[in-house]
Formats: sequence, C-alpha cells, structure tokens
Amino acid sequence: MKCELCKAEPATRLACMLYDTWKWTGYCRPGKELYYIPLDQLKNQKDATRWYHHLREKVWFGPVSQSSFLTKLDDLQRRLSEQIVAP
Ligand SMILES: [Zn+2]
Repeated sequence: MKCELCKAEPATRLACMLYDTWKWTGYCRPGKELYYIPLDQLKNQKDATRWYHHLREKVWFGPVSQSSFLTKLDDLQRRLSEQIVAP
C-alpha cells in the first residue's frame, strides 16, 4: 500500500484523519492523524478483529467511520492474500 496523502512513500499506518475517514498514511503529515494503527500491529485477521473491537468502544467510532475502516481492512486482506499467492 502507498501513502494516500502524498502517493509517494509506502504506507506505514492506517490512520483516522477525520472522525469518519480512514486512510493509509506514512510519515509525511506527522500529527495530522486523530488516531492511527501502525501496520506492524495489523498483520492478520486476528489483529484486525482485535482493533475493531477496541475501536468500537470509542464514542467517535460511528457507522460512517466503521464503514470506512472496514473498507480499509478489505484492502489489507486483498493485499495479504495476493502476497501469499504471489510466487
Ligand atoms: Zn505520505
């Protein structure tokens, strides 16, 4: 995944930029995230489930934010399965 802000660097985190918008980000915009998860803590389905349950306890994690977050997890899962399939 590439950083969605500068489109240049590799993404290192999944960040909540506004309370309802999650993006893959790198290091180009430090301090702009409201919340982020380092990608090394989001390596498989078990990690994703754990974070999802953690986030659901946050008052700001509403339906739109959840939907945006789950879309990102779909991206991640597709990427992980491509890595496994690739020679
Ligand atoms: Zn960037």
